Order: sequence, then structure tokens, then C-alpha cells
Amino acid sequence: MKQEVESMLKSKEINPTVNRMLVLDYLLELKSSISLTDLELSLESFDRVTLYRTLKTFEERGLVHKIEDGMGITKFAICQDSCKAGMHHDLHVHFYCHNCKQTFCLPKTQIPEVKLPENYQRQEMELIVKGICSACAK
Ligand SMILES: [Zn+2]
Ligand SMILES: [Zn+2]
Ligand SMILES: [Zn+2]
Repeated sequence: MKQEVESMLKSKEINPTVNRMLVLDYLLELKSSISLTDLELSLESFDRVTLYRTLKTFEERGLVHKIEDGMGITKFAICQDSCKAGMHHDLHVHFYCHNCKQTFCLPKTQIPEVKLPENYQRQEMELIVKGICSACAK
């Protein structure tokens, strides 16, 4: 596991410090995304500033992407392999569960092409579907 985490950081040209490896290890274990506040509660040995900086570095390097969960909270999730520094390709649908309040990446569900009027330039695109996730539906 450690080896995998280290090589993942290196592949995104991130210096694999112990702190970064611990944060990435934790993110990889998650089945959904996490907010900075929840990450802070889960990794008690870290202070908020360190976690914020770590997530920011990960985001800039194409390792995690931000999700506005549609309820006013920003969450972070691991990217697809194809994401690079300054070039994210996470044009998938995100799913917010009203029951467990988690936000999931749905990498196999791509956001459909949206036709914009002339002279409008797209910079970001997000699509949040809200409902009940598969674990809660059981
Ligand atoms: Zn990405
Ligand atoms: Zn749920
Ligand atoms: Zn995602």
C-alpha cells in the first residue's frame, strides 16, 4: 500500500513527504469525497492549515478535484488517472445522498455535452444529482 501511495504522488510530480502520503492513503480508503472539516476530524494529528495546503497541492497537481456538493459544502475526491497539473478531466456526474450526506464521484457517468450560446466560454462544469445512494437504498 505504502509503495502504491508513494508512486502515485511521484507520478503527479509531488514530493512524497510522510504527511502527504498519510493524507493520500486516507483519501484512497474513502468510497466518497470528504470536506476539509471532516478530514480534519478524521486525521487528528494534522492541523487545518497543513491539510488545506496538502489538498491544494493535490488539486494543482491533478490528484484530487473539488466538488461543490450542492448544499454549500466543498468536498475533495481522488481524480481519474488522466488528470494532470492544471488539466482536470473529471467531467463526471457527482451524486449527493440525502440520507448519508455523502457525495460520490460517478466516473462512468459523464456530464452530457452542453451547448452554450455564442461567445460564452466554458471554464468549469458541474452536475450534481441528488437522491439516495446504493448503500442507503438497500
Ligand atoms: Zn481531476
Ligand atoms: Zn447514502
Ligand atoms: Zn468526482
